[in-house]
Amino acid sequence: NRQVLLVEKPTGKLAPEHFKMSEGAIPEPADGEALVRVRYISLDAANRAWMHGATYRAAVEANTVMAGGGIAEVISSKAPGLAPGDLVFGDTGWQDYAAISARHLTKMPKVEPMTHLLSVYGIAGLTAYFGLLHVGKPKEGETVVVSAAAGSVGSLVGQIAGIKGCRVIGIAGGKDKCHWLTSELGFDAAVDYKDGATFKALRAAAPKGIDVYFDNVGGDILEACLAQMNNRGRIACCGAISQYDGAPSATGPRGVPGLIVVKRLIMQGFIVMDFMDQRGEALSDLQSWVASGKLRVQEDVINGLENTPRALIGLLAGENRGKRMIKV
Ligand code: NDP
Repeated sequence: NRQVLLVEKPTGKLAPEHFKMSEGAIPEPADGEALVRVRYISLDAANRAWMHGATYRAAVEANTVMAGGGIAEVISSKAPGLAPGDLVFGDTGWQDYAAISARHLTKMPKVEPMTHLLSVYGIAGLTAYFGLLHVGKPKEGETVVVSAAAGSVGSLVGQIAGIKGCRVIGIAGGKDKCHWLTSELGFDAAVDYKDGATFKALRAAAPKGIDVYFDNVGGDILEACLAQMNNRGRIACCGAISQYDGAPSATGPRGVPGLIVVKRLIMQGFIVMDFMDQRGEALSDLQSWVASGKLRVQEDVINGLENTPRALIGLLAGENRGKRMIKV
């Protein structure tokens, strides 16, 4: 059983030396557990945030198998309701095999391609769906801005906002990503935050102001959006990737709470898990948009468990387009 261990919690930028490969025995499932063979591991910006301390889950600790969501196949089971051959989603960690309590596994349907269970029909798709529609609540004709727009959550948020009849602006790093958003994904405009003039470029792309901002990044980009929000606008706080890889910044965005008061804004954080009782509704919409070609699913699959550390480091540096994952 090959495993990737986090050997040290980074204080600065995440680097390959924070990880090491190791070999262990294939675990025996205890009563109530299933032994699973990991097929695909999800790479998430949040993997890095878990190293800072407890969040919506416990912190990942040094000298343990690196935590992470994955799609896995049941090999043997001592849990009612799970049988060999079943496909499940859970926190498998970065390894070939895991013995996991059935309470922490979600049975998944068999879809083609299987990778869609981690992208559009997985956490990324549900986060985009619920965060935009249930938290941001865009109305037809409104202007929606999303950051980390070429990433897994952001690329879906922008397209769903387009399906709902909004004007959509993506913020992403680099000309190529920005061009991809407008030419391939149907965004109305894109702003390259690495170009240095985010505030001005955003003003030009959203001349009527912003009604909904889906925030994946926090920091300066949140500050630029806050200042351009329309009265009674909504900010869906999904994550803060600009703060994850290194020590947290000392200052927050300026204008809080002043702009929130004056513009009567609603700024709301959410965790996708809170919406799981409404998962059926979301999946049915997502499936019909994928089937009709309205929603394009971009995946970035890298082969080999041994490449998981560098794939996460690359995701934090903006290498990926769409949902990055490892084929184990
Ligand atoms: P993505 O696939 O979006 O990849 C992360 C992207 O973030 C990179 O490609 C990079 O693109 C961009 N990025 C990196 N650093 C910065 C920076 N300093 N400023 C602006 N952009 C940056 O990753 P995920 O889909 O895993 O995560 C997206 C967000 O969603 C994260 O904030 C994550 O925490 C959040 N999330 C929240 C959930 C919830 O329940 N609330 C659930 C799942 C995810 P670029 O080239 O454009 O810089």
